[in-house]
Amino acid sequence: MELSKKIEILAEAAKYDVSCSSSGVKNNSRKGTVGSTAAAGICHSFTSDGRCVSLLKLLFTNACIFDCHYCINRKSNSIPRASFTPKEVADLTMGFYMRNYIEGLFLSSAIIKNVDYTCELLIKTLKILRHEKGFKGYIHVKAIPGADEKLIEELGFLADRMSVNIELPSRESLQLLAPDKDPFALYKPMKQITQKKKQLSYLPTVRRGPSFVPAGQSTQMIVGASPESDYSIVKIAENLYQKYDLKRVYYSAYIPVNQDSLLPAITSDPPLLREHRLYQADWLLRFYRFSADEILNEKKPNFNLYLDPKANWAVQNYEQFPVDVQTAPYERLLRIPGIGPKSAQNIVKARKYYQLHLSDLKKLGVVIKRAQYFVCCNKATIPGLVKDPEWIIASLISSKQYDTLKKANTQSHQEQLSLFDVEKLESLTRKEKPYVYS
Ligand code: SF4
Repeated sequence: MELSKKIEILAEAAKYDVSCSSSGVKNNSRKGTVGSTAAAGICHSFTSDGRCVSLLKLLFTNACIFDCHYCINRKSNSIPRASFTPKEVADLTMGFYMRNYIEGLFLSSAIIKNVDYTCELLIKTLKILRHEKGFKGYIHVKAIPGADEKLIEELGFLADRMSVNIELPSRESLQLLAPDKDPFALYKPMKQITQKKKQLSYLPTVRRGPSFVPAGQSTQMIVGASPESDYSIVKIAENLYQKYDLKRVYYSAYIPVNQDSLLPAITSDPPLLREHRLYQADWLLRFYRFSADEILNEKKPNFNLYLDPKANWAVQNYEQFPVDVQTAPYERLLRIPGIGPKSAQNIVKARKYYQLHLSDLKKLGVVIKRAQYFVCCNKATIPGLVKDPEWIIASLISSKQYDTLKKANTQSHQEQLSLFDVEKLESLTRKEKPYVYS
């Protein structure tokens, strides 16, 4: 098969893997080597369907021996199959790199013959790139769950980042939809990578030798192919961050590619808003010091589709607001919708020098449109503020959303909408908008 045809098939097959952003690694090129990575990260571009294609993103092969129900490459599908050779992938990477098209490689693979053989092929590819071609650019490679520990370790010394995709958020769903995968084997490489990195970090720098997965590891979960709630997914993500020190958990809205009775109907749209809410919640876990149990809980296990998780938390806990920006500690400022780590730092710095006024917040980076309902300054709130969660919700969401919400509540009683008392919302006049400092 011609190389261009292989690229067409295997680049297309790789698009469902969303865990390809980077980087966090600084690696300068030396004489006789090619490429470098910058700690600031590699730039990304996105395809029309929103997938990231910043790195040369390839599947080594799509000739899979497994039969995961949700996957286009499952062995029972009748699709064109192709496999690269290690040299082909190495040559392609160098070719694209030298033309300045890419800054690195994202290499994943279906399982060909068996897990060890697949892992060996990836190792061979990375060895050619690193040792023969002297490529020092960024490489993100998929760890193959179930492969021998020695092979995973060898791969880790060649790559910058590794990902082990857990794909589905529960063991039951994995057993049902990915019957060839061993749910326990999925976490083994994650654990191994974490332990190895820890071990090496104890060694003095001079004795460390080559770096091992310096940009850390990530994983990906498909959202909407199985029945788990948003709460279960956020809980798993929190656990992964704490236990395996993951750099990122990626969420991929389920895109129906196979007709299968075990999967949601093929006509349904990908749950993109749900994916978006998960990323927002993930941000709260990583940068805003929230715990999964604060974002969602057993009683309210799914996201409010009309409010982002932070605003949703704030209206649910409105007794903790308004927060006085003049005196509140940094951690409390972080919890105010419209205030992020940078603007919280700016507030803390600014108030050392002068008495803040609400009108100062905008120039300190605060998104006033959102924050105005939750802040006060020396006890002064925005004029016209009604300290009522329903009034706040009505003010936060747009009239269009409000109408959809009303309609959906009357017609379908979706769970996400039950947070709202629509009658009360309706009784609140939409004209009662507070003053906006903008
Ligand atoms: S192992 Fe499963 S998810 Fe991975 S390529 Fe094969 S069929 Fe697809």
